[in-house]
Amino acid sequence: MAAVEVQRQPDEPAWVRAHWAGTWADGGGAEVATHNPARHSEVLARFREANAADVDDAVRALAQARHPWARRPIPDRCRILKETARLLEQRAERYGAELSREEGKVIGEAIGEVRRAASIFAYYGAEADRAQGQWFAGGTTGQNLLVVDRPVGVVAAVTPWNFPIAIPSWKIAPALAFGNPVIWKPSPLTPLLSCRLLECLLEAGLPPDVLAMMPGGAQTGMAVVTHPDVDAVTFTGSTAAGRVVVERCAALGRPVQAETGGHNAVIVAADADLERAVRAVVVGAFSGNGEKCTATARVIVEESVADRFRELLAAAVAGLRVGPPTDPATDVGPLISADARGRLQEQVATGLADATVVAEGTVRPELAATGWFVPPLAVELSAPAGEFWHAEIFGPVVVMYRAASFDAALELANDSPFGLAGAVHTRRLDQVHAAVERFEVGMLSINEPTTGGYPYVPFGGWKASGAGPKEQGAAAREFYSRSMTVHLSLT
Ligand code: NAD
Repeated sequence: MAAVEVQRQPDEPAWVRAHWAGTWADGGGAEVATHNPARHSEVLARFREANAADVDDAVRALAQARHPWARRPIPDRCRILKETARLLEQRAERYGAELSREEGKVIGEAIGEVRRAASIFAYYGAEADRAQGQWFAGGTTGQNLLVVDRPVGVVAAVTPWNFPIAIPSWKIAPALAFGNPVIWKPSPLTPLLSCRLLECLLEAGLPPDVLAMMPGGAQTGMAVVTHPDVDAVTFTGSTAAGRVVVERCAALGRPVQAETGGHNAVIVAADADLERAVRAVVVGAFSGNGEKCTATARVIVEESVADRFRELLAAAVAGLRVGPPTDPATDVGPLISADARGRLQEQVATGLADATVVAEGTVRPELAATGWFVPPLAVELSAPAGEFWHAEIFGPVVVMYRAASFDAALELANDSPFGLAGAVHTRRLDQVHAAVERFEVGMLSINEPTTGGYPYVPFGGWKASGAGPKEQGAAAREFYSRSMTVHLSLT
């Protein structure tokens, strides 16, 4: 049975199925419809949510599949991941167009996200070529100590909508490489891209009983996270939901990793190349429609260059083109949902009480009527306080604030509950050094946009932005396996 049924009429939405126990099936929960964020009258997909009974069936099947998968030689497992990478790369344009329609990010970025997913699978596809353990001398004649990594067991992965193929890839690829079956609960807002990833994995030769995909909302997520036969949980999403997941896992004594919200600061020092800094701030704040955990939210500018920076920022933001995300000329597309737009509009209305507008883009009336568009906005704060200063902004809004010195700017940057990404624009080595020493973030960029993008280095945040081990690179091995120390005496 195919994952996504062929539409009988061109305008008819796709019917998406869940996948568990080696087969595609409809969940037993409520029926859900998803909409094109740029034209919300268009229903893109329908599906039935997986319920707790479905999750129970799925986890039981994965528990059965666990040992055969773990026993498969790692080069065999990795061959499947490499083939998945090849399929994703080959289909990047097609899937990217679908991602842009489903999630709303502009087409170039959407294609880039599919390619990023491919590169993640390629990286973990090479895991078989890396060292698989460590060998130490023991304390007595003939004794050796061997440290080996064993699979952790059934992994539950819960993912958000804003990177519907890249984030699931950076959880599923290492989990599979290190020998674990996975139950995946994707966001209910992006079912089509979830199916595309699963289709590639199955076509690449993944045994169908090794990965379950259970579409649904928070209730499905909770059923997955708390199932008694799940051995480890990896979560990405909001800080509020992440905290609930971490608490439940702690109570169950279950390893958990949570990557959560961000409210990322950029420092523009007096010596910075201002044109370059503005370009980086605009990419950081407005790419992905500002709906990125690593998005630039607060820009702290040294007083002596703040007027010039403000002028350049105003011109850049006023020039951003809002439009359909599938149009290559568009810079900023729609938000994901009516709820997301409502939340942002409310936040802007509250935040503007303490701010002046630096620049506001425009949304053509026909777009505003048909899609969840909002104008890109830059504001300057009169004090480091209030809604814009402390709360995560998930949309195309950037806030600037003036600092008396570089030192003061660093203090202000750290005045946040979050600690995901940050950036500093400077040419002075002493200031770079100060930032490395004192900026409280998991990912720091110097003269670049706030980001975190390479599969071979750790990804994740400090403070309210994350809990547990980081993701990707060598950090992933630590989470998706557990080590065994073997005392070996053969003489
Ligand atoms: P969300 O927290 O609403 O949902 C994330 C996922 O968790 C979804 O699959 C959702 O159905 C599920 N979920 C929600 N409540 C749950 C619960 N109580 N138990 C189990 N599962 C639950 O977040 P979202 O709106 O999908 O994504 C946006 C948020 O994600 C933003 O806050 C953003 O900063 C964050 N995010 C963080 C990172 C990172 O790596 N730090 C990356 C991307 C997005």
